Amino acid sequence: MLKKLFQSLRSPLRRAKHTRSTPEVLSNRQHPLRRGQNISRHATSVVERLQHAGYQAYLVGGCVRDLLLDLEPKDFDVATSATPEQVRAEFRNARVIGRRFKLVHVHFGREIIEVATFRAGHPQGDEDENSHLAARNESGRILRDNVYGSLEEDAQRRDFTINALYFDVTGERILDYARGVHDIRNRLIRLIGDPEQRYLEDPVRMLRAVRFAAKLGFEIEKHSAAPIVKLAPMLRDIPAARLFDEVLKLFLAGYAERTFELLLHYGLFAPLFPASAAALKHNPGYTERLIRQALANTDLRIQQGKPVTPAFLFAALLWPALPARAAQLQARGLAPIPAVQEAAHELISEQCQRIAVPKRFTMPIREIWDMQERLPRRSGKRADLLLENPRFRAGYDFLLLRESAGDDTGGLGDWWTDYQDASDSERRRMIRDLTSSPSDSSGAPRKRRRGGSRRRRGGDGTGTPAGE
Ligand code: ATP
Ligand code: MG
Repeated sequence: MLKKLFQSLRSPLRRAKHTRSTPEVLSNRQHPLRRGQNISRHATSVVERLQHAGYQAYLVGGCVRDLLLDLEPKDFDVATSATPEQVRAEFRNARVIGRRFKLVHVHFGREIIEVATFRAGHPQGDEDENSHLAARNESGRILRDNVYGSLEEDAQRRDFTINALYFDVTGERILDYARGVHDIRNRLIRLIGDPEQRYLEDPVRMLRAVRFAAKLGFEIEKHSAAPIVKLAPMLRDIPAARLFDEVLKLFLAGYAERTFELLLHYGLFAPLFPASAAALKHNPGYTERLIRQALANTDLRIQQGKPVTPAFLFAALLWPALPARAAQLQARGLAPIPAVQEAAHELISEQCQRIAVPKRFTMPIREIWDMQERLPRRSGKRADLLLENPRFRAGYDFLLLRESAGDDTGGLGDWWTDYQDASDSERRRMIRDLTSSPSDSSGAPRKRRRGGSRRRRGGDGTGTPAGE
């Protein structure tokens, strides 16, 4: 099937219908964007400097889109006719980055303005004289994309119509080649050109469609939505390091819960998180509750300006897959605790083949999970030692998360909530109560405390395999 699709790619490009060779130009009477208002002064200065040096330069992409929607842009991207080397020559504080796609980063303290040279869509096949600059694999996926082009060509090779708007800061004009303003008005995510072809060129565009739909509350236009379910498995071929970056953007932008729903709807979750997708099938209630709650907590923390860690997120996404994996290993003769340890190791390393989670995050995933086994064991000095553990907080939050998804821990979360607030003498009493209890060896408190209504200290979490 893919071969057939690729053959169809060899026919003349079919993307013309969404783009125009002359843009619709909106003057400042027709749009609300103003130089100096909500626009980074560094971005403005980069544009002006390039224009002054004789190049074309515009603000482009997400910042123009977000400004039109009255949202605060995450960052400011510049598109220019200057090559990366020419851009670098204009700025002392500039660095050329990227291979697949060469860009210049201009640094101003902590702010980075990303400057990209206008690019052209390029012919298929390897015989092309530019093949060292631009290349595709046999399914049409773009491997390198460094053929420079005109502004019109640059607009055509962008992903969505709403991302192909250019703002000339000096003249306060918006150039619209792809009816992006129309789609912003109608709240539509629409690929430029033939959707299937554009997804084959770069399957990550399917994730981007979902990300923008969730973030902006837009709908994916029906022709752009139609091929996604069929093409979703192509994400398996995307380099794991790139997918890690994309997954963070999906889940750490403040719209993770809605994004998760859309990923499920379009069949994009399984190729990213195969073990979690299997857990969603085998144990749907618990798995969905736990993942949703973790994502909702993440969204809330971002809204409140609190820090979030990818480790916690990955710990939650993978946790529901642990019990089944540990059970398999036990069935092959491993003792329960080593089976859990081995299952954790296997799950994380398999996940890393899909999504390259760096070591600095995989270590804490394990620690958050290990904590779940340790939190029930509180006798003697153990509770105080655990409190001092730098991973306690994440472990405790994870415990609450598990409980909120339906794990019965015998009120362990409430116990730890009380313990953190208790005075020294109260703490000693709490530990004594444990040791006098027959259930102490498991660490579970004697009876459940008033569940649910208590004020809890956190909202995130960690643990050992539990299952429903
Ligand atoms: P945000 O920064 O808010 O997440 P954005 O639209 O600015 O959204 P970036 O990833 O910063 O997204 O990319 C900047 C612009 O580059 C996009 O608006 C789009 O025009 C273009 N672009 C990015 N990725 C792709 C892609 N995979 N295919 C085609 N064009 C792309
Ligand atoms: Mg951007």
